[in-house]
Amino acid sequence: MSEDAVRLIPADEGSWRLEAYLRRGGYEAARKAVMSMAPADVITEVRKAGLRGRGGAGFPAGLKWSFVPQGGAGPKYLCVNADEGEPGTFKDRAILVRNPHQLIEGMTIAAFGVGIRKAFIYVRGEYGRIAGRLREAIAEAEDEGFLGGGIFGSGFDLEVIVHLGAGAYICGEETALLESIEGRRGQPRLKPPFPAVVGLFRAPTAINNVETLANVPLIIGRGADWFLGRGLPKDGGTRLFGVSGAVRRPGLYELPMGTQLRTIIEIHAGGPPEGVAIKAVIPGGLSAPALRPDELDVTMDFDALARAGSMLGSAGIIVIGDKIPILDVLKVMARFYAHESCGQCTPCRIGTSWIHKTVMRIGEGQGRASDLDHILRLADGMKGRTLCPMGDAAALPVQALVTKFRDELEKAVAR
Ligand code: SF4
Repeated sequence: MSEDAVRLIPADEGSWRLEAYLRRGGYEAARKAVMSMAPADVITEVRKAGLRGRGGAGFPAGLKWSFVPQGGAGPKYLCVNADEGEPGTFKDRAILVRNPHQLIEGMTIAAFGVGIRKAFIYVRGEYGRIAGRLREAIAEAEDEGFLGGGIFGSGFDLEVIVHLGAGAYICGEETALLESIEGRRGQPRLKPPFPAVVGLFRAPTAINNVETLANVPLIIGRGADWFLGRGLPKDGGTRLFGVSGAVRRPGLYELPMGTQLRTIIEIHAGGPPEGVAIKAVIPGGLSAPALRPDELDVTMDFDALARAGSMLGSAGIIVIGDKIPILDVLKVMARFYAHESCGQCTPCRIGTSWIHKTVMRIGEGQGRASDLDHILRLADGMKGRTLCPMGDAAALPVQALVTKFRDELEKAVAR
């Protein structure tokens, strides 16, 4: 296991402070970028490193930055997506709690590369105490001249503002996040235009996830080749895999991109407890279609999981034991999406609500023979027909459970 890739350090008192971060070589990469690199070279280095977004979609970070127009007199913004609301996901929280300066340093480098002078960190509402720590870390960095006006004595300025959300899952979608920062109801915008061109307050905006930015100091400090060597040729670096559910050692494991799913569950997380067998695994947060036990010999990277009919998403691995009825998993899933749909488009608003009602009716012993096909039809009606990716995110995992565990669910319907 790599110890230094994201410098996931113990949560002992003071480990998150600037003093501790400096002892670990903190802010040297930002100093290197600001004092000795051209902004375009920062973007080139991150592109070379194959850093793909750690929020879910896996879009190459350097390429995303290159879409933000260079120059121009108007403002540009950096928004950090710390709205970690995907069930089964707790990786950004660890970075924010244990090593917030690595995120701040990554933001400084990104902002320098893209030519941004104002940044927002959008923190999920439930992470209120963490937002307080983040503000303290920002104040420490400002006091030392690592943030604010004239960073490292250069002419580069960066102001960072922490913005606390109010707990809506959909605000993790990048355009809903922008709406929320602007003080409006957090609902996704129609794209295009994309935020890189028309983003926060209608200005060009780069939006990146916490873990993505926390990797940037390592790329600039140690080089793209070093980073690539810790992952796959098109998918550099390590990944924070959060493992929960039916395993002996649930927790967060930092491993090279491309580590086998079965290895993470069986070796690192210790496999299922005695007397429990694995029934299903959700590999990338609740929105990722579940895999059966015979599908676990897949590498944990964006492309391999897409080929396996699932997705890497947030890399939150949920292991479901054989004592858990699939109907119970479906109930939790259906309730979550029905509750979190922002209601803006009909297929998602109605589809999630009907799926939830149907699943609950089956749970109450009132199932009908047509119910499973009805759920599949509703999910089909959502896929690709909604304004934001939540339509697919709600439909695909439901379809996977109904298709792969149909025999068990038919018994529940016939009860
Ligand atoms: Fe809102 Fe769902 Fe439409 Fe996304 S897909 S905009 S969450 S109603």
